[in-house]
Amino acid sequence: MGEINPYEATIYSNEKLKPCPFCGSEVTMHCDTSDWRHSVMHVGVRCDNSDCAAKIGFPFDYSYGIDNAVYMVRERWNRRKKDAR
Ligand SMILES: [Zn+2]
Repeated sequence: MGEINPYEATIYSNEKLKPCPFCGSEVTMHCDTSDWRHSVMHVGVRCDNSDCAAKIGFPFDYSYGIDNAVYMVRERWNRRKKDAR
């Protein structure tokens, strides 16, 4: 999984995201639309603690819609259990 280019990524509010289940730090949601040639966007959540760096991320077709993609990733993150690393 490549690093998200901050110049091509939108950072969403983390207000509805639970803290990291591993270290308790705040987390940030990213949406990378730089792969527009393939109509694919990558949406994920990453722990703000660089010593932890827990993250999830999924590709979505553009037709799925950014709002739907953000909702799905947020739900998956918020259901993440500590033993699922
Ligand atoms: Zn963490």
